[in-house]
Amino acid sequence: LAQRLDGIPPTIFTTMSALAVRTGSVNLGQGFPDDDGPAGMLEAAQRAIAAGHNQYAPGTGVPPLREAIARHQQRHYGLDVDPDTQVTVTTGCTEAVAAALLGLVDPGDEVVVLEPYYDSYVAMIQMAGGVRRPVTLRSPDFRLDLDDLRAAVTPRTRFVLLNSPHNPTGTVLTRAELKAVADLAIEHDLVVITDEVYEHLVFDDAEHVPIATLPGMWERTLTLSSAGKSYSVTGWKIGWATGPAHLVDAVTAAKQWLSFSSGTPAQHAVAHALDHEADFPRRLAQTLQGHRDLLCEGLVEAGLTPRVPEGTYFALTDVGDLGWADGMEFCTSLPERAGVVAIPCQVFHDDQDAGRHLVRWAFCKEQSVIEDGLVRLQKAD
Ligand code: GLN
Repeated sequence: LAQRLDGIPPTIFTTMSALAVRTGSVNLGQGFPDDDGPAGMLEAAQRAIAAGHNQYAPGTGVPPLREAIARHQQRHYGLDVDPDTQVTVTTGCTEAVAAALLGLVDPGDEVVVLEPYYDSYVAMIQMAGGVRRPVTLRSPDFRLDLDDLRAAVTPRTRFVLLNSPHNPTGTVLTRAELKAVADLAIEHDLVVITDEVYEHLVFDDAEHVPIATLPGMWERTLTLSSAGKSYSVTGWKIGWATGPAHLVDAVTAAKQWLSFSSGTPAQHAVAHALDHEADFPRRLAQTLQGHRDLLCEGLVEAGLTPRVPEGTYFALTDVGDLGWADGMEFCTSLPERAGVVAIPCQVFHDDQDAGRHLVRWAFCKEQSVIEDGLVRLQKAD
């Protein structure tokens, strides 16, 4: 392997989903839903194929999708986005992250990143030649510590890679926390790359605030999202970046050499969904909130006290509650002990003491699947 992949193991999501298949376990690991998105969107994909939308899309995305994304940003957040110059379509949010980092980070540039982190951030910061500066969200409440944040910034820092709603903690950064990030970014002239892929999956009275909406932030923020989570089509891999043209151009410049362009029929279907199924993500969040409560109550009965998430479709637990010191050992033996798969979070940490005992459970599964997983878990040794 090339040096740029030194120390980067296969992604935990592949490892754990393969383990689930091999052992016939209930997969509460990788975050993909059991249910497909709205029927109207699935039909729109079939219509797009039948209508001959089967060749390369423009690198920045088909115009109807870029226009629908701009309307989405306006409708939900009051952001004025020019569909021609301030939107680019990517192959999922994961490619948006990759292209943003490859397009913007120079060797030696420091990137402040929240940990636990989504594993692709670490791989892509390294592949871009950057240096990560993690800021740990700590148990039990997993809030952003503003002193830690400030301490992570050095004269070499050029980027903050944010993620809210945050995977895997379920933290939704408050306006005050985002304001602190914004103040720091403005003071040190940093660019904020923000992964908001769970933007619609928030619960109770939590509110998702895009940091791009804060004063002085639009011009220094690249906002990333996708249809995968909001419309339950993680396999379509349609994501996007929005922001000022100079930042979006950097994403497009790198993306053209990665995938060139993204799946054309799915782009047309997502454009349809953003305009005509605008209510779907809210209804999905309502359903997920019920699943969250079911999962969290069941985890308590199994002896684990979860951090009840404000957003995303994941709940975190500390396996120390059951006398385990190590989440990786807990998760690798869990299929045999219980027939359930979950995600060990120490792989998302530089700070092993903070992450060793954390385990993530997904609740984007059908109710019967969650119930089955919980019954198995409650019977485990
Ligand atoms: N984002 C999803 C998760 O955290 C899936 C990630 C992946 O499989 N690449 O589970």
